[in-house]
Amino acid sequence: MKTATKYVHAGMEPDTATGAIMTPIYQTSTFVQASPGNNLGYEYARSKNPTRTSLETALAVLEQAQYALAFSSGVAATDAILKLFIPGDEIITCNDLYGGSYRLFDKILAPQGYIFNYVDTTKIESLEQNYNAKTKLVWIETPTNPLMQISDIQAIANWCKHKNILLAVDNTFASPYCQNPLLLGAHIVMHSVTKYIAGHSDVIQGAVMLNDKNLYDKLYFTQKSCGAVPGPLDCFLVLRGIKTLALRMEAHNKNGQVVAHYLKNNPNVKQVYWCGFTDHPQYPIAQKQMLGFGGMISFELKSERIEDVLKFVSSTKLFSLAESLGGVESLINHPATMTHASIPKEIRLKNGLSDGLIRLSVGIEDADDLIADLEMAFSCC
Ligand SMILES: *Cc1c(COP(=O)(O)O)cnc(C)c1O
Repeated sequence: MKTATKYVHAGMEPDTATGAIMTPIYQTSTFVQASPGNNLGYEYARSKNPTRTSLETALAVLEQAQYALAFSSGVAATDAILKLFIPGDEIITCNDLYGGSYRLFDKILAPQGYIFNYVDTTKIESLEQNYNAKTKLVWIETPTNPLMQISDIQAIANWCKHKNILLAVDNTFASPYCQNPLLLGAHIVMHSVTKYIAGHSDVIQGAVMLNDKNLYDKLYFTQKSCGAVPGPLDCFLVLRGIKTLALRMEAHNKNGQVVAHYLKNNPNVKQVYWCGFTDHPQYPIAQKQMLGFGGMISFELKSERIEDVLKFVSSTKLFSLAESLGGVESLINHPATMTHASIPKEIRLKNGLSDGLIRLSVGIEDADDLIADLEMAFSCC
């Protein structure tokens, strides 16, 4: 079956009680039992809820995985994965990392004794240089946020296999439509479902997809023991979003390409970060492991005056100034003061994230209108 078909039908079974074609929102905390332990498969909704079960079935389909678990947010999903490890364990991760992941690693987990090595994961040598007997996990994002660096998932998966450690990929930026890390050898995929999967900027949710039964059992135990579960209404909204994920991603890919080229040819722009350019440093890898390049683009203005940058991000009308990404509507963001403000300035600058960087999440509006909006903002600055 082709992807678009799979997405429309993922996780959907007519409701056994009524035949309803859409999974009902089972807004209930508990389930009546005939006698103790004699129930219909559901006992208490933190452990299991039928709307969540449908969604988790669908989430597994998205990454062609055996198992999926839904969490109350992307960072809750990340936290559950990190709970597979113990203080003293070492994790190698990228130095261009989602700000919230960095905050969880550096401010919550590192003080407990987890050790994080932030490296340039676009180069296998940097993994090798930071590996030791305590290393248990490699955690990568590709493309990275916000500099759109690409790491070679298959090469890193092979390296991890050789070392007998796990590879987890935060696949939020690519979306499951454009990239499937499990098929390239990764052990665990994490998504901020909030972004492309839900797609309508109306829900916070996270997901973990994987094939290993033993790891799944541990993560399920964490899900119910720590309790970061999404509510049934949120699960329903995500099930609805998944039906159009293929269509939406085609539109994001198309608009992303148009906007990236427009910016690249704009005399007011110094540099554009988008992994679909043939002169992007890791373009061959992006082309090999991605089906499309999505709608995430970062760029720097020629002007280095911070006032111009702040004026630009406040001038667009269709591109709303907001954190987040992956919704049908376009957003503009200033990472240094917004999404990445939790990363200390000297670390940001060392990693190439300048105060002048602007990030776009290109939505599915008509590309002509998006270009006109950017054109208007350039004329203001
Ligand atoms: C948003 C985001 C997260 C965190 O997800 P939440 O749903 O906001 O908790 C993690 N990684 C990336 C790349 C993100 O964009």
